[in-house]
Amino acid sequence: MDLGIRGKRAIVCAGSKGLGRGCAEALAEAGVDLILNARSADVLDAAAQEIAKTYGVSVTPVAADITTEEGRAKVMAAAGEGIDILVNNAGGPPPGLWSDWNRDDFIKALDANMLAPIAMMQAVLPAMMERGWGRVVNITSQSVRAPIAQLGLSNSARSGLTGFVAGTSRQVAGSGVTINNMLPGIHATDRAVSLDSNVVKAEGISMEEAKARRAKTIPAGRYGTTTEFGAMCAFLCSQHAGFIVGQNIMLDGGAANISV
Ligand code: NAP
Repeated sequence: MDLGIRGKRAIVCAGSKGLGRGCAEALAEAGVDLILNARSADVLDAAAQEIAKTYGVSVTPVAADITTEEGRAKVMAAAGEGIDILVNNAGGPPPGLWSDWNRDDFIKALDANMLAPIAMMQAVLPAMMERGWGRVVNITSQSVRAPIAQLGLSNSARSGLTGFVAGTSRQVAGSGVTINNMLPGIHATDRAVSLDSNVVKAEGISMEEAKARRAKTIPAGRYGTTTEFGAMCAFLCSQHAGFIVGQNIMLDGGAANISV
């Protein structure tokens, strides 16, 4: 399927690895030029070169912490005018128990997983609306719909972002701009390795056992792939997705037992 977005320009935040990288690759495959962000310059530069070479698009790496004001300013300065697509992403907060976290922990989670994506949207939406076309995809988590007990910081911050998107997406849709959220369940990325390592430590089992146990809780019987995730992102950013507004799309292999 031709996604109809060849020649568009996208900012992909936190995109050198994992789910963000999957989105970056799928957009590049559709012919979209990228401003690619992550913190570690060496990994990011290597990813940018690889994507540019594979798909023949322009990829501008911007090494910056997207959860800080300075980081976002650096990304926006490199992007310049004419951004058509924004993919919001950042690392997830650490797991714990409800009683572990103090105000600073919550502020850090809110900064990373709620206020940073909101600030990025506020930066790009006016020009998108003026041009009458834009696509925003926020990577959140299945925990928004089916909360994961030990990810209380994530549940809280991402729910705040979801609330913002629910209203804002309806306010900008009339200008040809769509905002949607993608809610990943477990995917085979470094984040999954880190979550599984916690289980290994807590339960004294092997990594293989931890992964097998988790896979058993998923009707699909496996972890998701970054390629599958990226393909959905590219579709949401395509010309065909203009009528998909303010949705929370679960990509979890059926793990969350909910009917709607
Ligand atoms: P990942 O494989 O660890 O990749 C994270 C990417 O984000 C890397 O490119 C990393 O590069 C970049 N990054 C992290 N913090 C950043 C920051 N402050 N500023 C700029 N770039 C940053 O993680 P992932 O699995 O793709 O997860 C992406 C998001 O989805 C996370 O919020 C995670 O909690 C959420 N999620 C993941 C899963 C899953 O199963 N994988 C499930 C539910 C939710 P640098 O470290 O170099 O910055």
